[in-house]
Amino acid sequence: MDLSLTPRETAFQREVRRWLRRNLPKRARGSELTEFGDPKRIAELKAWQKTLYEAGYLAIGWPREYGGRADPGSDRRDLLMRQTIVSEEMVKAHAPSVIGMMGVQMVGPTLMQHGTEAQKKRFLPSMLTAEEIWCQGYSEPGSGSDLASLKTRAELVGDFFTVNGQKVWTSNAQFADWMFCLARTDPNVPKHRGISYLLIDMRSPGITVRPLVQMTGDRGFNEVFFEEVRVPRENLVGDLHQGWQVANATLSHERNMLGSTTRTQQMFQGLLHAARTHRRNGKPVSVDPVIRQRLADLAIRVESMRYHSYRQLTDLLRGRSAGIAASVNKLVSTELNHAICTLALEVLGSYGPLERKSRYVVDRGIWPYEFMFTLGLIIGGGTSQIQKNIIAERGLGMPKGG
Ligand SMILES: Cc1cc2nc3c(=O)[nH]c(=O)nc-3n(C[C@H](O)[C@H](O)[C@H](O)COP(=O)(O)OP(=O)(O)OC[C@H]3O[C@@H](n4cnc5c(N)ncnc54)[C@H](O)[C@@H]3O)c2cc1C
Repeated sequence: MDLSLTPRETAFQREVRRWLRRNLPKRARGSELTEFGDPKRIAELKAWQKTLYEAGYLAIGWPREYGGRADPGSDRRDLLMRQTIVSEEMVKAHAPSVIGMMGVQMVGPTLMQHGTEAQKKRFLPSMLTAEEIWCQGYSEPGSGSDLASLKTRAELVGDFFTVNGQKVWTSNAQFADWMFCLARTDPNVPKHRGISYLLIDMRSPGITVRPLVQMTGDRGFNEVFFEEVRVPRENLVGDLHQGWQVANATLSHERNMLGSTTRTQQMFQGLLHAARTHRRNGKPVSVDPVIRQRLADLAIRVESMRYHSYRQLTDLLRGRSAGIAASVNKLVSTELNHAICTLALEVLGSYGPLERKSRYVVDRGIWPYEFMFTLGLIIGGGTSQIQKNIIAERGLGMPKGG
């Protein structure tokens, strides 16, 4: 594994750093609160994604014809390294996250693999500019970990599917333009074989979105009801009844997205800052030997994760399969993020749980918020227990549990 940057990559890193210094939105620094219920914040984040895209820093490896920066003769290593450098620099600059992540990192790469040419041309460019935001319609009441048991029905008659049923925990559905959705198209075959993957316009008649309030207080996810919703056949991705394979491609992209090393590094930097600046008995909390021990333990875990991601990058550059790496990333990073927030609350002592609006709030109330939010991410995208099952069965070849 070669951890050094080439002179060309170092020059690109400098260019990105300079660009971020000039273009970062004013309220970016330290404002990682998701606030998905706030329309003003949504508009700001859309504008930020568009700026980032127009500067050439988003989806660098996508083919140019779909809005990316790659030409047929482009060097794969160069493209991958550029995207990695941008991600790392964004973390260091505390840049806001990309609001259209479910498009750019989940359904986009899935369409590249399984979509028709018309679907790629229609949907990929607008994902990058944040003109169209996507949500994921997988989970249903009673079908979470056991996703293949889903009951939402899509009946194909002529050129249209008619969709009836319900999804739940649908993040961002309250402002999404499109949903990638799993529906049962054949109820008479074993459960994995009768599912299809559909792209549904969220403005279609018959769709009702009802917000659910999370423990963070945000209305980040929703129930979505379908009543006689018509979906054109051309919005089917992959073959009819074969959506399970397509769904799994998206799940793997999702786990990589949730397992982002950069987010974990950013959180850890925030924790170090809190420990160095917050004082207890007249001294910074960071001088307490017990706290130092726990910080060191987390630092080691963060670094191990960073090197694991470099190993993955090396595998990618050498064309080796990622195997179950996405599940390892998802498991390790979501649990680590929550452990970082847990220690941050301890570092802040009685100031820790104070809400955003409190007079004495520290770090704008980010820590209690992230403590709750990161707990949700241990569940979302497949729980830790499910990731452990995947690692054990598919990675280590252990027998299936009962
Ligand atoms: C913040 C957040 C955002 C989300 N966003 C979306 C979204 O945008 N779109 C979407 O479709 N879904 C979304 N989800 C739903 C998420 O995918 C499900 O919550 C998750 O898959 C778990 O399903 P469940 O909630 O039905 O729990 P269950 O499947 O009922 O699991 C309950 C418990 O049993 C354990 N368990 C279940 N089966 C097994 C097993 N075989 N072996 C060991 N343990 C097991 C689980 O680990 C868990 O602890 C989101 C969830 C959260 C928390």
